[in-house]
Amino acid sequence: MSNGPQYIILKEGSSESKGRDAQRNNIQAAKLIAELVKTSLGPRGMDKMLVDSLGDVTITNDGATMLKEIDVQHPAAKMMVEISKATDNEVGDGTTSGVILAGSLLEKAEELINQDVHPTVVVDGYMKALEKAEQVLEKIAEKVDPSSRSDLIKVATTSMQTKLVSDDAPFLAGLVVDAVSQVAEKQADGTYRVDIDNIKVEKKPGGSMMDTKLISGVALDKEVVHSAMPKKIEGAKIALINSPLEIEKTEFSAEIRINDPSQMQEFLDEESNILKGMVQKVVDSGANVLVCQKGIDDSAQQYLARAGVMAVRRVKESDMTKISKATGARIVTNLDDLSAKDLGNAKIAEERKVEEDKWVFIEGAKNPKAVTLLVRGGSQRVVDEAERSMHDAIMVTKDVIEKPAIVAGGGAPEVEVSYQVREWAQKLTGREQLAALKFAEAIEVIATILAENAGMDPIDTQVELRARHAKGEKWAGVDALSGKVSNMMSKGVVEPLAVKLQILKAATEASSMLLRIDDVIASSKMSAPPPGAGGGGMGGMGGMGGMPGM
Ligand code: ADP
Ligand code: MG
Repeated sequence: MSNGPQYIILKEGSSESKGRDAQRNNIQAAKLIAELVKTSLGPRGMDKMLVDSLGDVTITNDGATMLKEIDVQHPAAKMMVEISKATDNEVGDGTTSGVILAGSLLEKAEELINQDVHPTVVVDGYMKALEKAEQVLEKIAEKVDPSSRSDLIKVATTSMQTKLVSDDAPFLAGLVVDAVSQVAEKQADGTYRVDIDNIKVEKKPGGSMMDTKLISGVALDKEVVHSAMPKKIEGAKIALINSPLEIEKTEFSAEIRINDPSQMQEFLDEESNILKGMVQKVVDSGANVLVCQKGIDDSAQQYLARAGVMAVRRVKESDMTKISKATGARIVTNLDDLSAKDLGNAKIAEERKVEEDKWVFIEGAKNPKAVTLLVRGGSQRVVDEAERSMHDAIMVTKDVIEKPAIVAGGGAPEVEVSYQVREWAQKLTGREQLAALKFAEAIEVIATILAENAGMDPIDTQVELRARHAKGEKWAGVDALSGKVSNMMSKGVVEPLAVKLQILKAATEASSMLLRIDDVIASSKMSAPPPGAGGGGMGGMGGMGGMPGM
């Protein structure tokens, strides 16, 4: 390099890290992220308190939430955050596990790279091992009946048990399972589909978590629009209107010349006649509840009240859709089109007090395809975290209803996969075998960390788990609550097969992608802090050796 001309192809201020350096750097960053979330894994995991730049506090145990809230700078660290996002979108749970697994796969890969195994060989070995691992999971998984409430409750409880709300998990799991089962729709081929948008999760601090309710219908954070209207209607016939019950104001100002006072009166009468006409159409349809996406004029409110109609205005579009699904009402734009067959039915529409607010509940439809979970709890932070764990529980219930197969939790499937991959790797040769064996070692991490977080000895536990799996106990796992190795299937700690498959796949793919990188070129544009100055929300992450300015 010292002879001959030097060619500069990068803009001034850009930085590049190459080969081993780039790899080591990326692996280091990814491992740090895994390190960060690992103490939160499992029912004995700790929570994180996150403070954003405005001083807002979030307390959470959810991997995806943690990584969303912290400001990660390093590109490899960002990739880890993406694993958790992808897992969250796909299956809704297992976000922490995915990140921990990727960190572990990279750690083991690094050991091989340090022994001069080429990264592409590691990647190939990992990919083959992944394929085998997926087959093992499919084979050991147990089929369940998607309409078996007790099995679904086990799945939802396992997911919720690892969160802040663990004491109330069984109760909340019951509500979640009932909610998801109600909106599940059977397909022509006999399988089910769940659109979780049909489950509205509303939260309101106050009361206790045990006051959380499943409403077979919709709860609207709105009050009845006029005080003279009925506050409770049984046998509700609901009209959904998405246009205003108001006289439209023109864009430009119009001038009306009035020559004598009677004309003035005529003009006002005309206005109120139009509104009266609108209300009459609602009344003629037979509706006794009006839910309007837009505004309702004061005098229209009075006419409605006089006709005994309960009305709510300025309802969100998404809520309109849910009411439509819950009650069978059709959303009508033009009042002239409104007729009896557009109305939805519910047992009751009622305004109730929820703490200091008044909400309207539309409940008891015959076959509601949209439901509401009203989450209660001691404080805003508690209901926020409860909502997040309910989201995970809703997703795992959906996962099992759509793909009715489960595995045990507590690291049991991971140890079993590890055991079987190790056996299978004996058939491979050379360096590929080395990589497959490392893969097997890497995925045991879930069990080890669960044990560590439960205050058990990780090495002893690992030894016991390996021995019991070798004897054919495929569901031997870490029972974090009793601190022993147990059969997790009979303990009722179960998870969707879909979650385990997704975690393995996302983690292996992301670590493979990082391993293939041997050159990181950072343009100068993003180089705010000078080399080594750190910066960013994650002290130390910014200054991680050799990558100035990233
Ligand atoms: P993730 O974001 O990966 O879902 P969690 O903190 O929810 O992270 O932990 C999930 C892990 O905890 C899974 O491996 C699951 O099997 C395990 N787990 C759940 N309940 C128990 C339990 N009672 N004993 C041991 N492990 C459990
Ligand atoms: Mg979880």
